[in-house]
Amino acid sequence: MDLPEEASAREAMEFDVVIVGAGPAGLAAAIRLKQLDASLSVVVVEKGSEVGAHILSGAVVDPIGLDRLTPDWRSDPESPLKTQVSKDRYLILTPSGGMGLPNWPMPRLLNNHGNFVGSLGTVVRWLGQRAESLGVEIYPGFAASEALFGGKGEMIGVATGDMGIGRDEKPKSNFTRGMELRGKYTLLAEGARGSLTKQIVERFRLDEGRDPQKFGIGLKELWQIDAARFQPGLVQHTLGWPLGRGASGGSFLYHYDDNLVSVGFVVHLNYDNPTLSPFDEFQRFKTHPLIVDTFAGGRRLAYGARAISSGGWQSVPRLCFPGGALVGCAAGFLNFARIKGSHNAILSGMLAAEKVQEALASGRANDELVAYENAWRGSDIGRDLHKVRNVKPLLSRLGLTGGMTLGSLDMWTNELVGVSIFGTLKHGKRDCDTLKPISQCQPIVYPKPDGKVSFDKASSVFLSNTNHEEDQPVHLRLKDPNVPIRDNLPMYGEPARLYCPAGVYEVVYGNEASKSDPRFVINAQNCVHCKTCDIKDPAQNIDWTPPEGGGGPNYTTM
Ligand SMILES: Cc1cc2nc3c(=O)[nH]c(=O)nc-3n(C[C@H](O)[C@H](O)[C@H](O)COP(=O)(O)OP(=O)(O)OC[C@H]3O[C@@H](n4cnc5c(N)ncnc54)[C@H](O)[C@@H]3O)c2cc1C
Ligand code: SF4
Repeated sequence: MDLPEEASAREAMEFDVVIVGAGPAGLAAAIRLKQLDASLSVVVVEKGSEVGAHILSGAVVDPIGLDRLTPDWRSDPESPLKTQVSKDRYLILTPSGGMGLPNWPMPRLLNNHGNFVGSLGTVVRWLGQRAESLGVEIYPGFAASEALFGGKGEMIGVATGDMGIGRDEKPKSNFTRGMELRGKYTLLAEGARGSLTKQIVERFRLDEGRDPQKFGIGLKELWQIDAARFQPGLVQHTLGWPLGRGASGGSFLYHYDDNLVSVGFVVHLNYDNPTLSPFDEFQRFKTHPLIVDTFAGGRRLAYGARAISSGGWQSVPRLCFPGGALVGCAAGFLNFARIKGSHNAILSGMLAAEKVQEALASGRANDELVAYENAWRGSDIGRDLHKVRNVKPLLSRLGLTGGMTLGSLDMWTNELVGVSIFGTLKHGKRDCDTLKPISQCQPIVYPKPDGKVSFDKASSVFLSNTNHEEDQPVHLRLKDPNVPIRDNLPMYGEPARLYCPAGVYEVVYGNEASKSDPRFVINAQNCVHCKTCDIKDPAQNIDWTPPEGGGGPNYTTM
């Protein structure tokens, strides 16, 4: 990109700690730092237009994190979580029916009693206000697009992206240079598959000797349902239909607040059939006879999607590197069996903050926070993840019935006697390596949406309030522009068309009838920042980079 001469230097601001991402992990770190030492200067950059705009979660929240960070949260009149879990229900679905699983044989750690149902977006907005009241500077609408390094290769902060660059990569009349935010330590709290985190993990080889990180894509809708069908605090999970062989995942359905229902579907990204569409699996799930009635007379309010990091214990990379550390889902702290990560995001933000404050108090800067790396496995985060470490590998190897049975047994033995007969199982392949060639797969054919409970992508993306400046460089960068049509189309039918939950990728033909002259089209303005393409592309050819700050979904209470 050619920059005007006067634009080449960036302004720089100095802080004690720079935090990338105003999710639960980043905000917990910021709050804890100020609680420990009010004189520290702490800045948080957030790519969403406001705090919470890019947060999408279930969410059933284990309050352990909030209880430690903000012990008065329950008595605050503005408390972000108001509905306590009242009933826990597990179902295995078949195409036309299903079977409820009794609660008593379930490992205790899957029990949701004592947890709260609500919107994680609301929780982070509340945390954001708490952070600001303690003096944390939060800059929403600014994406950290570049990591900055010092003379010894240590991280010294981040730069926010330049604004006002056209699609042709040339500065426009409103061009504004990004800022350098320099810190003695930088905490990366970008959530699952963070764009800077990916570079830092590679640069410092933080994943050496660890299993590959595993992911799922989580799709969610928020509904306001008929009051007669509302059961406050009901938490329901299903496994089985509509997913078939070679794919695993399940649904969640949470009733909370004022007749609100969060309904969602998670598909693990190690599925093998390239004709699978997570979006259409979700739409089909809602039409199941045991589910569909929930939505009768209701109204769909919002839609979105986000990747989940699910490798757990054996996939967590080394957390520290010279000048910074990873926290929350950027580090992979989600508990896969419990589908919960917000509690560990908060706990890891706090733990990292404590180690940063100790380091700063002893005059250190820009070195490795080894104490944080050494502490997490023995902390509540480590205990939470260790007990469930074999559930995902067992499901991947044995499928639903075998995986569930042995996985439950394993969680019981881990919980009761602290050991597993399996030791620690490995995850195997990266999710980008699991697709079979399309010629070896039975194509999956999805029913047309009915417009009542099942919908198409366009009307769904509309409900995510996604907005990007159109005249900017495409933020979904192809390392080689020929790969989608030359390699992915003949081999896999170009699966990006299907795994993207926002219809960003299309293959259009010069002649539709003869399917000749195919072209790969990227509708970048629809991107909901879920990061699935960065994870699942079989050629690892798609690089998700932050678009202009403020772009992307505008979730209100997701
Ligand atoms: C469908 C779904 C259901 C879930 N259900 C539950 C549940 O019921 N209970 C539960 O506890 N957990 C649940 N989770 C997991 C939970 O949402 C995560 O564990 C949690 O949000 C992780 O917090 P985080 O702060 O690490 O990351 P995030 O919440 O992802 O926050 C990261 C923030 O960083 C910002 N960011 C990223 N990159 C940049 C950048 N370069 N520059 C500036 N800003 C950046 C993002 O915009 C975002 O605001 C669910 C997740 C999904 C997707
Ligand atoms: S383009 Fe990639 S990150 Fe954006 S919505 Fe589609 S899959 Fe998700």
